[in-house]
Amino acid sequence: MTLIEQVRAVAEAAGADLVGVADLSVVDDLLLAQGGPCIAGYPRAVSIGIGLADSLVDRLEGARDRTAEALYRYHTHTVVNGALDRCALLVAASLSRAGYRALPVPASLRTDESRIAGPVSHKLAAHLAGLGWIGRSCLLVTPSRGPRVRWITVLTDAPLEPTGGPSAPRCGDCRACVDSCPVGAFTGRPFTPDEPREARFDAAACDRHYRALEDAGEPAACGLCVAVCPWGKKGSGRSPG
Ligand code: SF4
Ligand code: SF4
Repeated sequence: MTLIEQVRAVAEAAGADLVGVADLSVVDDLLLAQGGPCIAGYPRAVSIGIGLADSLVDRLEGARDRTAEALYRYHTHTVVNGALDRCALLVAASLSRAGYRALPVPASLRTDESRIAGPVSHKLAAHLAGLGWIGRSCLLVTPSRGPRVRWITVLTDAPLEPTGGPSAPRCGDCRACVDSCPVGAFTGRPFTPDEPREARFDAAACDRHYRALEDAGEPAACGLCVAVCPWGKKGSGRSPG
């Protein structure tokens, strides 16, 4: 079994739906600026995705359903993030046993309060691994599941071949995520690698929305930008369904 076959087998046995390898050499400076020396210096990343349950995502549109929102919150933050952390831990352990450095970056850990960001952008790693494109929502949109996937990253120096490279946005004229956001967090500008996230997404506005829901004693869940994307909807004609 080759090393990448071994990585895939470990990740898929732990519940991964999508696995790719990214070449990080093109984002060295970005990684150092965002994560510091602990994160910088790894030449590659294994990107791992787990799909969200359509039965929960579909309930986020239309009339508000607080039970559905609470279930979605638990599903994404507790169940799927927990599964991703376990996947990354097992993949990193497998790479370490094979003699390589490997650092599992937590699925959801905010280390920069001012930018509302973690030490590594999991979506950027998935993008560089060829698993999808960055949509107007700043989410990673996959051809098979749209943005209905959560991600984690294992940084490594293992000699794994990249599985792809960045692909151009395929949003076309769609602005569904921009128009549906209750706090107008998206500018609607398409992704370009030379612009900072702030040109497209006001993360603080989204964060305030979640805090306001919490303060009001409601489930801290929104996900409309995930739910409305036609690429993730079964039978939309844009996704393979
Ligand atoms: S989760 Fe909701 S508030 Fe946050 S960006 Fe998406 S649509 Fe807007
Ligand atoms: S909802 Fe439309 S604009 Fe937003 S990411 Fe999906 S395809 Fe792109």
